[in-house]
Amino acid sequence: MQTSRIPGFYNMTVEERRHLLRSMDILTDEETDYLFSKEALPIETADNMIENVVSTFPLPLGLGLNFFINGKDYCIPMAIEEPSVVASASHIAKIVRDAGGFTTDATDRVMTGQIQVVGCEDFHKAKEAILNEKDGLIEAANNAYPSLMNRGGGAEDLEVRILNEESGSKYGQMLIVHLYTNTSDAMGANIMNTMAESLAPVIEHLTGGKVYLRILSNYPERCLARARCVIPPSLLRVGDFSGEEVRDGVIHAYEFAASDPYRAVTHNKGIMNGIDPVVIATGNDWRAVEAGAHAHAARDGMYTSMTVWSKDEHGNLVGELELPMSVGTVGGSIRVHPIAKMAHNMLNVESAQELAQVIVAVGLAQNLGALKALATDGIQKGHMALHSRSVAIAAGATGEMIDMISERLIEEKEIRVGKAKELVEEYKK
Ligand code: NDP
Repeated sequence: MQTSRIPGFYNMTVEERRHLLRSMDILTDEETDYLFSKEALPIETADNMIENVVSTFPLPLGLGLNFFINGKDYCIPMAIEEPSVVASASHIAKIVRDAGGFTTDATDRVMTGQIQVVGCEDFHKAKEAILNEKDGLIEAANNAYPSLMNRGGGAEDLEVRILNEESGSKYGQMLIVHLYTNTSDAMGANIMNTMAESLAPVIEHLTGGKVYLRILSNYPERCLARARCVIPPSLLRVGDFSGEEVRDGVIHAYEFAASDPYRAVTHNKGIMNGIDPVVIATGNDWRAVEAGAHAHAARDGMYTSMTVWSKDEHGNLVGELELPMSVGTVGGSIRVHPIAKMAHNMLNVESAQELAQVIVAVGLAQNLGALKALATDGIQKGHMALHSRSVAIAAGATGEMIDMISERLIEEKEIRVGKAKELVEEYKK
């Protein structure tokens, strides 16, 4: 079985890392050759993906290591420009691994499609008319996308809501049909939209109203993934801080985010620091995942922390994260982008459900990485050390100069481009 414990990976050159991944069978011969010889995204491919293409926009692709989830090892491709994210995820994954690893689960991959109906004479009668035809409508939706049922998916439920019923409501009354479809291993946006559009004429006929929007909701509340970790305080010790102090600091930090939207938004941004890079690397739609995640964080009426941190009866730190996770292993650009295809192979997941669980585990790790740093030394120490390399490059440093200038910036505690420029000039003399 593939391992994700690769000590010293951080200190290797890019070439050495590629060769090592090949020797570990994480990359195939063909993929290794591709990485050495080809552009990550050929311009012809890019030109077929979107409109008005003039170039591509590469991001660094790193590997999140040490992830042990439900007894399986994962090397996790992460595409991100921000320093310290991959290091922090891997650091926490190592701690959680030593505590037994992450446990995750997920619901079936049921996406929500919405159909908006306005202008009904009697909205309650219209609702009843739709519900009386529920089975027929589900069948019609499946007939619009027959291949999905052969893949174990398909439309499976339907609900109807009436919006703006109260007299004096600012907005017009409308009927919203929710169609729930298991989109199997696809993210499902196009599948849902096709199904929703196919139902529009019959819904107009049943309700006497007019259908306007027919589109998937990016809040797929029936497509959830959850991750959990339980960590003994002995694994949390940092410098002069005892494990118990770190644990309590993490819980206090969580309680701050749970009770204050101003903090929650930053806390959750940190979680998405882990989630988005995996979503991007696997060719998935990160805007959709972002939108759904933040909606879930506000589901009870107040925007709050996506994670929950607590202490169990043995004094262990317990972390939990539940998010809607509309990702796929097929569809969209996933099989078009060569690096996204490679990322799926490296990850070695067998289904979209498994991918969703890996992603929430990374989000949970990333959150603990941030909270642990915030509750102890503060985030800047580690972050700025890594940031100093980008600052050196931005100031014009190249080759061996990057490390030298980055080290001077840290030593002199002045991690600024202006200072780095002075050092570059000094070095050139
Ligand atoms: P596709 O339209 O590519 O559909 C997935 C296809 O994969 C299906 O047509 C199915 O075709 C095929 N397939 C092969 N194997 C499987 C399997 N095991 N399970 C399911 N399908 C399988 O992609 P999606 O419907 O997932 O749509 C995702 C795209 O839509 C993303 O690019 C997204 O950015 C975009 N989008 C997003 C919107 C939003 O978020 N609001 C709105 C509109 C688009 P077959 O069964 O016939 O082989």
